Amino acid sequence: MTEHAVVIAGGGPTGLMLSAELALAKVDVVVVERRANQELNGSRAKGLSSRTLEMLDQRGVADRFIAAGQKAQVTGFAVTRLDISDFPTRHNYGLGLGQDHIERILAAWVAELKVPVHYGMAVTGFAQDDTGVDVALSGGKSLRAQYLVGCDGGRSLIRKTAGIDFPGWDPTTSNILAEVEMTEKPPMGIHRTAAGTHAFGRREYEIRNGEIIYKDVGPIGVMITEAQVGSTDEPTLRDLSEGLIAACGTDYGVHSPLWISRFTDMSRQAAAYRDRRVLLAGDAAHVHSPIGGLGLNTGVQDAVNLGWKLAQVVKRTSPESLLDTYHAERHPVGARVLRSTMAQVALHRPDERTNAVRDILGELLKMDEVRKRIAAEMSGLGIHYDLGPGHPLLGRRMPDLDLVTADGPLRVFSLLHDARPVLLNLGEPGGGGGITPWRDRVQVVDAEYAGAWELPVLGTVAAPSAVLIRPDGYVAWVGDQTQRGLTDALATWFGPPTVTERTASGQTRRAQMRLAGCKWRECSARGECSVSARRQTPNWRRWWSKCFAVSRLQCFPVIFPIDALFGHSADSGRATMRSMRDRHSAFWALKS
Ligand SMILES: Cc1cc2nc3c(=O)[nH]c(=O)nc-3n(C[C@H](O)[C@H](O)[C@H](O)COP(=O)(O)OP(=O)(O)OC[C@H]3O[C@@H](n4cnc5c(N)ncnc54)[C@H](O)[C@@H]3O)c2cc1C
Repeated sequence: MTEHAVVIAGGGPTGLMLSAELALAKVDVVVVERRANQELNGSRAKGLSSRTLEMLDQRGVADRFIAAGQKAQVTGFAVTRLDISDFPTRHNYGLGLGQDHIERILAAWVAELKVPVHYGMAVTGFAQDDTGVDVALSGGKSLRAQYLVGCDGGRSLIRKTAGIDFPGWDPTTSNILAEVEMTEKPPMGIHRTAAGTHAFGRREYEIRNGEIIYKDVGPIGVMITEAQVGSTDEPTLRDLSEGLIAACGTDYGVHSPLWISRFTDMSRQAAAYRDRRVLLAGDAAHVHSPIGGLGLNTGVQDAVNLGWKLAQVVKRTSPESLLDTYHAERHPVGARVLRSTMAQVALHRPDERTNAVRDILGELLKMDEVRKRIAAEMSGLGIHYDLGPGHPLLGRRMPDLDLVTADGPLRVFSLLHDARPVLLNLGEPGGGGGITPWRDRVQVVDAEYAGAWELPVLGTVAAPSAVLIRPDGYVAWVGDQTQRGLTDALATWFGPPTVTERTASGQTRRAQMRLAGCKWRECSARGECSVSARRQTPNWRRWWSKCFAVSRLQCFPVIFPIDALFGHSADSGRATMRSMRDRHSAFWALKS
């Protein structure tokens, strides 16, 4: 059986992005994709949001997408277009680009990163144990992985097999989508009637002054609202024709469909994004109406949140509990996406009362504060992970500032191309001293920045003296002329420190502390373990103030008083370690 660190089920946008993130972190990852190639049957996402473009920019590949798409003010809520050109980002727009092109460009990047993608193969089941996951594939083959990630879409087999609940709301609307020929030319654009919303367009278009101008040639894209909800049959040309006649009084001589599909506003979210060694991302974790264009963007952003965390756990630089922060951060984002799309679906209802609500909302959205707040949510720029109280930057996206360094000008995003964390020191050069035990993992950059610190919605915020930036571009710690809290943040997000140890023969070597053989789950069940309560928010420094490292490098363990690292007495630390070890059979080991 072939072994990999991570197997990803599904090579859609989420699976591809996650595989790229893992490959950048040098993790052995493989993608299993049921389709024979990257081609898409039918039309799906139409573009990328501002924050997704920023994330691609963080990896140095945004230009590939921008060159293939069209920039436009396409951010919107229900029927109201929201201009984000005054937002403090280089990508103060949305990018019109079909999902087929997005996947093609992602797949080419993934190929450059040498990720194997097994096309024409499906995951058919899996079984997980304490050390890994056996993944069964169509054709009778199987793979063994440390972790399996289900990026296998809304009907996710991985989610179902893991037994993860998918609570939510059944559909209230149903739409047919198709690409067809018509003998008469329909009115292009979006139309609302008593029968619901319908639209006509063409695959090829140009955006001029914010308006979509369709080419005169090529098949016609059609979207109609169905009279009935709940059909499970494949939609037919006859269904489409009847729907067109109900909505428009004619079917415009519809014929020769290239494809016909159906989508609904079913809204569901996985109750948990992780079950031990199995994780979910993208549509496998959340489904909702396509209104607002959030699905693909949310999936790609799930992948960027998960990638570096999974890489650190696989490489054993961080404990497994880091993966719990993936659910803690991304589940609330997914829940807000469901809330926002459900509200937009409701606002599309074709009755007079809903029209009145839509009009009033349209007036409110002309107010600057309301526009900014909703546009920040729809563009992804407003995402805020709850990392506790502090500077407004904490838990928010790091802006792509123009820095000045000893080596010349530098953009912040260029520091994130390798998906490695960065401590950006904007104070006295050489001020990143406390970081020494993490230097093997965290880049330290001395820089100057003279401009304003502006965040979407919040406006100008106080200039920090330093920021710790996670590989996904979110700020994990903000310095205020001191390094207070820095070691906590480094340990929480990037694992225990690397220390210099002395072996019995008197030699020194560097090794990272890690937890090994911890039985605290059992202790926790007996109500004895004082550290178990902190599982949800790992705070390694607090652990260290109680624990010691025990090296397995020698037959007789060398004990390292970790308290000494933080200025406590070695003796008290050693005593604490003994009691901890006796009580919990938990011990710290050094990873050679
Ligand atoms: C009409 C429509 C319009 C949309 N418009 C937008 C938009 O404008 N903006 C936006 O952001 N989103 C939009 N979306 C949503 C977007 O298409 C999805 O959110 C996005 O495709 C999700 O990506 P994913 O990779 O998570 O899942 P998917 O794209 O569904 O990919 C899952 C992949 O897994 C594969 N797979 C499934 N099961 C298995 C298995 N057992 N083994 C191996 N492989 C498997 C599938 O073949 C597929 O390639 C739209 C969707 C629809 C239907």
